[in-house]
Amino acid sequence: MSRLKNKVAVVTGAAKGIGAAIAKHFAAEGAKVVINYVSSKEAAEQVVKAITDNGGIAIAVQADVSNEADVTRLFEETAKAFGGLNILVNNAVAQGYAPIEGISVAGFHQSFNVNVLGPILTIQAALKLFGDKGGNIINISSGASKMPLPGASLYSATKAALDAFTIALAKELGVKSVRVNSILPGATETEGATEAGVTAGSDYEKMFIEKTPLGRRGQPEDIAKAAVFLASDDAAWITGEQISVSGGMYGF
Ligand code: NAP
Repeated sequence: MSRLKNKVAVVTGAAKGIGAAIAKHFAAEGAKVVINYVSSKEAAEQVVKAITDNGGIAIAVQADVSNEADVTRLFEETAKAFGGLNILVNNAVAQGYAPIEGISVAGFHQSFNVNVLGPILTIQAALKLFGDKGGNIINISSGASKMPLPGASLYSATKAALDAFTIALAKELGVKSVRVNSILPGATETEGATEAGVTAGSDYEKMFIEKTPLGRRGQPEDIAKAAVFLASDDAAWITGEQISVSGGMYGF
């Protein structure tokens, strides 16, 4: 498969979960991939190894997406390694699940810094590398942006803000041949979901499966396949969309 041949992609938060699956699927489709991580160096190197063992091309770059100097360095290293950029996937997340009483000022800033300021900084940096040829931005949002869950008001609010950026920037950047779309995953089995308490057989998992018409939690690969489609020329006429990939849990 070579739907992303000769493309260069940056995937943020790609050491684990959905980001790692997107990076692997992009590489399998011929893209050169930058695996961004903030703390999981070893896991990021394992993703690079899995890609290169499979004949693909990838590097790992540490950077906190909410730190402007780190983001500048992330895209400088991308340009140095691969000479340009075609695709940006904003996947990194600070979950910050808490009931209203548990939301701290620091937690508010952490969630908005990673989930909203992060994509602003990465998109600004990506646009410089896209140049006149245009490019492709995929924001990994959540079904919780449209159907916020109790105990996840702050997280849901960051994702609603991200959706607003997707819609506004699709309109703003179309003239530069930049497409901007969101994927809104449903409950997906990842390290982050496990840390948040959605473990196999748990009441949370049962609740999510009951709400999902296709009767199972998603796998990171389910999300990655949609990302490949949006990143490829198969989606050349698609921008400003918010695609629910949720086994039917979130139908808008
Ligand atoms: P995850 O397992 O929690 O992984 C998130 C990654 O984000 C981590 O690997 C972490 O990197 C990275 N990250 C955190 N802060 C960062 C920062 N400041 N700079 C750079 N990277 C940072 O996440 P996931 O469950 O795969 O979710 C991926 C995306 O899908 C998120 O945007 C999430 O909101 C969305 N989503 C997930 C679900 C689900 O059920 N899993 C449902 C709906 C939407 P390190 O490991 O290096 O610290």
